[in-house]
Amino acid sequence: MKITGVGAVPLAIPLAPSTPESSWAAGIGKQILVRVTTDSDLIGWGECFAYGAPLAVCNVVDDALAPLVVGQDPTEIERLTQVMHRALMIWGRRGLAMCAVSGVELALWDLAGKSQRVPVHRLLGGLGQPRVRAYASLLRYDTASDVGRMCRAMVGQGYTAIKLHQVDVESVAAAREAVGDGVDLMLDTNCPWSVEEAIRIGRLLERYDLRWLEEPVWPPEDYAGLARVRRALRIPIASGENDATMFGARELIAAGGADIVQPSVTKVGGLGEMRAGRGRESNPTRSTADRAWRRRSISARPHQACHTWRCRPLPPSAAAHRANPLRPWIRSPLPGSGTRGRPRSRGRAALSSERRCHQAVLSDLSHPSS
Ligand SMILES: [Mg+2]
Repeated sequence: MKITGVGAVPLAIPLAPSTPESSWAAGIGKQILVRVTTDSDLIGWGECFAYGAPLAVCNVVDDALAPLVVGQDPTEIERLTQVMHRALMIWGRRGLAMCAVSGVELALWDLAGKSQRVPVHRLLGGLGQPRVRAYASLLRYDTASDVGRMCRAMVGQGYTAIKLHQVDVESVAAAREAVGDGVDLMLDTNCPWSVEEAIRIGRLLERYDLRWLEEPVWPPEDYAGLARVRRALRIPIASGENDATMFGARELIAAGGADIVQPSVTKVGGLGEMRAGRGRESNPTRSTADRAWRRRSISARPHQACHTWRCRPLPPSAAAHRANPLRPWIRSPLPGSGTRGRPRSRGRAALSSERRCHQAVLSDLSHPSS
């Protein structure tokens, strides 16, 4: 089997206005899939995180990575991943470029599973557990009362764990009051504070029995600072979602910066990087970092595009739209649904990001080929 094509598929999901309002609620959710075609009938799909610059990630996939792997054997995942890593050595060890590598690498795993007719988890060593507990991850809201209201709504939907994205103590108090003692609460602050501020505010948060405090320190790579916060507080510290490669995770662990390490498979470099960290558990000469890795929890999350993809096509199929678990959050019909055809690669610069995403979602999701 040979790879015949690699292409990024930018997605744009028009979202319904949120209630209560949140400044985080974008009008459109953007994500990227990677499509790897072969000279067999098989097509592999991967996913890239994109932050706020999806077309930059698309360009890395299309212009920098595709030429490296087209014509190659897709089952040589480790070798091809190394080729991509080395090609990006100077400019792509983390951030958008590593998001792009993640998408291609995940597509190769998808192909491997399809070619062997087994789920990918079996290729990685088997299913660790058959069920995963899900938590509700809230947007950031303007008032503590909105936070309490949303928490009550999530409990009403059956969630037993809720993650907040507030940066004030009052909102956490409102959330705890709303849900009582039987629901786990987590607080993800997205790196707002100095070490001193994180310790001061963290001590005020301790009484609310948080399951974890996530990314409390700016900048996110200040592992020594995170370690100071971790030593000072009784709340477990979670971090690492924005790091890349297992070297980043190991550095975080070696510094003692996190109780819960949160590599994202769409940012860290793909499944191989996740497995690299796990594989070191069996090394009899473990370093402190290796032992720490073994003790740490790993947090993972499904991604919006994956969910939506399973419900293809979006328009015009009303049945598919009804089946979409994200339907309450998606506007319908998709704006511009009369447009057909994917833009030619040479004309991209002339297209706005949003328009190009819409065209891609229409042409690719309406004609699934795998
Ligand atoms: Mg987070």
